[in-house]
Amino acid sequence: MGTSAKAGAKQTPDVVVIGGGPGGYVAAIRSAQLGLSTVCVEMDKTLGGTCVNVGCIPSKALLTSTEHVEFARQHAREHGIQLGDVSVDLATMLKRKDHVVEQNTKGIEFLFRKNKITWAKGLGTLGANNVVTVAGTDGNTSSYHAKNVIIATGSVPVELPFLKFDEERVLSNVGALKIPEIPKHLIVIGGGVIGLELGSVWRRLGAKVTIVELMPTILPGMDDDVIKEADKVFRKQGLEIRTATRVTSGKRTATGVSIDVEKDGAKETLSGDYVLVSVGRKPSLKGVDAAKLGLNVSKRGEVLVDDQMRTSLPNVFAIGDCVPGPMLAHKAEDEGVVAAEVIAGKGAHMHYKSIPSVVYTWPEIAVVGLSERQVKDSGREYRVGKFPFSANGRARSMGENAGFVKFVADARTDELLGCHMIGPNVSETIAEIVLGFEYRASADDIGMTVHAHPTLSETTKEAALATLGRALHI
Ligand code: FAD
Ligand code: NAD
Repeated sequence: MGTSAKAGAKQTPDVVVIGGGPGGYVAAIRSAQLGLSTVCVEMDKTLGGTCVNVGCIPSKALLTSTEHVEFARQHAREHGIQLGDVSVDLATMLKRKDHVVEQNTKGIEFLFRKNKITWAKGLGTLGANNVVTVAGTDGNTSSYHAKNVIIATGSVPVELPFLKFDEERVLSNVGALKIPEIPKHLIVIGGGVIGLELGSVWRRLGAKVTIVELMPTILPGMDDDVIKEADKVFRKQGLEIRTATRVTSGKRTATGVSIDVEKDGAKETLSGDYVLVSVGRKPSLKGVDAAKLGLNVSKRGEVLVDDQMRTSLPNVFAIGDCVPGPMLAHKAEDEGVVAAEVIAGKGAHMHYKSIPSVVYTWPEIAVVGLSERQVKDSGREYRVGKFPFSANGRARSMGENAGFVKFVADARTDELLGCHMIGPNVSETIAEIVLGFEYRASADDIGMTVHAHPTLSETTKEAALATLGRALHI
């Protein structure tokens, strides 16, 4: 167990972090490493927040398990592997996922003990003069007069007014990660990241999956070429994708759910046994009454911060999903480090130009920087280079021919402005380009870098060379 508040917490700590998700727990670790006495308030039974408990980690565990199922059922034969009928033991798969989550939550508890961070278990409320009161899960109340407070209260899923989550048939990410049977028909409202990742999980297990997306495309906001390729590949895999489709109402039925949709004036009712509503997330400020405290927030309810994560209140910082920017665990973590370092008197600041974003479908999608459309709209002159995985020897040897790497570079200076990857393992390959962005790399820098052969990353080198009209293998 983590250190509890009762185990002698200093009542005037240097830092009290409200929320133990990837933003909060990392902020706590960095604060403690910097010699600050640190308390982290978390109301859940486990540390790790959305990411570790009901987000990144369990979804990736299920994505990995179901990629194996897909291989066994669809691709093993191409490799000369005869497996016969492949059956799925869903209970074991879900148990494995829970075990992976537990390893991670226990790992954070270990890190808290190692760094002498107090875990105050309960609901934290921020009051005047940086007093944080904790209504403990054990029934006791404690309070801390914090020298500095870091708000890391995260986000919650957006609910549709006519489809309230019950996590039995009307699911958010929480329920969709533990459906006790393979659905016959899973309706997914929202063709964004969660819809595509969790939709893929259940499709691979044998469910019919229908994705209903309000906008004209899935993954709105991504680079147009990536959207086109993703749409083509996911449909081929068997996802039924309905774009430009509005959900007008929905309800639970005796056997599942009934969802009314409308496209170009044509109405239809979809029947399924479950519905996943994944139409975005919104900031949560539980325990933080912004109006009462005089804390500046945006219209969307995000806490407004400067690039050192300072809020409008003295010695109060905010990080992660409850502040503006992409709702990503690695962004929350880095903001946590910045807040801790600023509190410790270091000159850290956050910059957002090189934050990668990954969709862990198969093929994976990984992005950093601006889309071609964004660059075009800015009026800047630019060049594009693209190289397909179908022309990469390693990808061919893996039987992975879908996707490409695309660069958008400044036509005058050759500086990389955007990188858009769809293909095998691009969640890992993108790291090279993120580093490149940090150093303001040019297409020539990447194109002239030696990449091991045969690797998927040669596609990156070739795409960079293509930006300069010098690709070799196409
Ligand atoms: P959270 O993780 O939401 O943590 C906030 C914590 O604060 C919670 O534990 C909550 O209980 C606690 N809390 C809130 N208020 C109080 C209070 N008053 N007192 C005490 N405790 C409180 N991001 C990625 O980068 N990669 C991924 O692959 C990825 N996959 C995802 C998959 C799914 C299904 C979902 C839903 C999200 C995914 N995300 C992913 C997003 C990622 O989970 C979030 O960006 C990240 O968790 C945000 O971290 P956070 O610390 O800001 O907030
Ligand atoms: P999202 O913003 O990725 O996608 C929501 C989708 O729902 C959009 O395509 C939107 O157009 C659509 N939509 C909105 N209202 C709708 C309606 N009424 N009917 C039909 N479609 C509608 O949000 P999400 O998938 O819910 O994920 C939430 C957040 O969690 C994301 O912002 C993402 O950053 C984070 N997340 C990240 C990862 C990852 O990094 N791999 C994985 C999962 C979640």
